Parts: sequence; structure tokens; C-alpha cells
Amino acid sequence: MRRKSCFFCKDKVREVDYKDVNQLRRYISERGKIRAPRMTGACRRHQRQVAVAIKRAREMALLPYVAEAGPPSRSRSGDRS
Ligand SMILES: [Zn+2]
Repeated sequence: MRRKSCFFCKDKVREVDYKDVNQLRRYISERGKIRAPRMTGACRRHQRQVAVAIKRAREMALLPYVAEAGPPSRSRSGDRS
């Protein structure tokens, strides 16, 4: 498996900016979950910063807790087909 280089290290980013939503979006899945470091290629240090930044961005309502895009049919809670 090839090791991807950390985007933030490459870009010499010391602190991940929570206001940089476009950047953070790359680190969350379509469902709004934080991607695993092996998928993002981020180093441990920056992955941690990204996680903190995403949480902060959510608190500031810059990022959704759960992405809107999903299955069109709204399933009732606990109701499985
Ligand atoms: Zn890094």
C-alpha cells in the first residue's frame, strides 16, 4: 500500500483552520463523518487537528453534523424494511 503524503504537511500548514470549510469537507464523508486517516492520507498530528477543526466548524454551524445528501426516502427511526 502506498503511503499518501499528508496534505497539510505538504502545504506546511501548522494549524488546521476550522473556517476553511472547503478544506475540511475533503476530510468528511458524504454522511458527514470524519474520514479515517488511512483514507485521507493525513498524518496523525494533522488528522487530530482536522477532527478538532471539524467539530469546531460544526459548533459554528459551518459544517453540518449530518450531511443532507442521503437516501431520498426518510426512514422512521427503528423501522427497518
Ligand atoms: Zn501532516
